Amino acid sequence: MTLQLRVYVPDHPLIKHWLAVARDQNTPNVLFKSAMTELGRWLTYEACRYWLPTEETTLETPLTSCPATVINPQMPMAVVPILRAGLALLDGAQTLLPLASIYHLGLSRNEETLQANCYLNTLPEKFAPQTRVLVLEPMLATGGSIMKAMAELSDRGVDPALMRIISVVAAPPALKKLSEQYPSLNVYTAIIDEGLNSQGYIVPGLGDAGDRAFGT
Ligand code: URA
Repeated sequence: MTLQLRVYVPDHPLIKHWLAVARDQNTPNVLFKSAMTELGRWLTYEACRYWLPTEETTLETPLTSCPATVINPQMPMAVVPILRAGLALLDGAQTLLPLASIYHLGLSRNEETLQANCYLNTLPEKFAPQTRVLVLEPMLATGGSIMKAMAELSDRGVDPALMRIISVVAAPPALKKLSEQYPSLNVYTAIIDEGLNSQGYIVPGLGDAGDRAFGT
């Protein structure tokens, strides 16, 4: 079976609405941060479908016993926000996955080479087998940061097929790199934009997600 990167763009009015708020240059920073929280929430909700491990059980209602499906608490879950901008998606993702461990990965972009430089890494040395990892990276642009994050995660034993990437705006260069190296990955994004400008910003995009979320 040939694997192929899957990119989901959920057709959902809430996702479209919060994307429009985030894209608008007149949106103030506080509302931009709220829009990112909502996008983190609804894209994570979509990503959980067919991904969160469940188990069958039996429980007692006030009237009788009945079968039930619950999330398997034994299966390890991790959320990895890529700093800075990935932090803006974290509140929304965390409300849906309150038991997941959060590991921070700080990557900055060299504005001349556009290469990703790692300044913070709280990932464990090895992830337990079967760990499901949700990576938060709102802007999939040149692919520098996400490829660096993927390399760090793969080196620590994470199976790309058990990962989900949450992005807000994705561009073809990053998706091409991911698809060439990690074809079993699943990406959830609010939109796929047409391309990048000469500074590596996504067009039409939403500008610098970190600056807008944190008012810098
Ligand atoms: N990072 C951003 O914050 N915005 C872009 O358009 C590209 C990378």
